Amino acid sequence: MANFLLTPDVMKYKFRVEDSRPVVLFDRDNTLIHDEGNSNNVEKFEWLRGVEKIFSSSKINDIQIWVITNQSKTLEKDDGLIKLRSFNRFLCLRAEADFGVHISGVISCIHPQSAGCKCRKPGLLMLETVKKMCSRQFLGFVGDKESDFLAAKDFGIPGLDIIKLLYGSAFEDWLTGCL
Ligand SMILES: [Zn+2]
Repeated sequence: MANFLLTPDVMKYKFRVEDSRPVVLFDRDNTLIHDEGNSNNVEKFEWLRGVEKIFSSSKINDIQIWVITNQSKTLEKDDGLIKLRSFNRFLCLRAEADFGVHISGVISCIHPQSAGCKCRKPGLLMLETVKKMCSRQFLGFVGDKESDFLAAKDFGIPGLDIIKLLYGSAFEDWLTGCL
């Protein structure tokens, strides 16, 4: 079975000076961006409305952002892996370009649900990988699905519903309350 996928950004991270900022984990599809059914098509890239407030608070409060995503359809197509890698890279570039936010890394589980891997959320392998790379304070996991909240619970951190956070100053209030 192929390993889960790390972006080149994560590979660089291993050689960087340790980042001491606290970490917030984010799901990708329908948390940061609109999901068109795991298409990983950069031409359809679209931020979720309101996500700019989340990024702005992340910047003001100086936290590390890591993205943890299940991409179970990746291996169904020959170019699936290439498209996923490009899309994740594009996501990081757009975050820098649109909001001036650096995403520390994107980790994807590429296995179908039937594979029974340990990385697919609510499995914890991807979250534990981030912990190995930066043994910092983990504030929470922002997602939209039960699998995100379950993973957060098993990891021992708060799971936060993106929909609730997109209204008003909920994310900012939560974040400043943590720090
Ligand atoms: Zn997996």
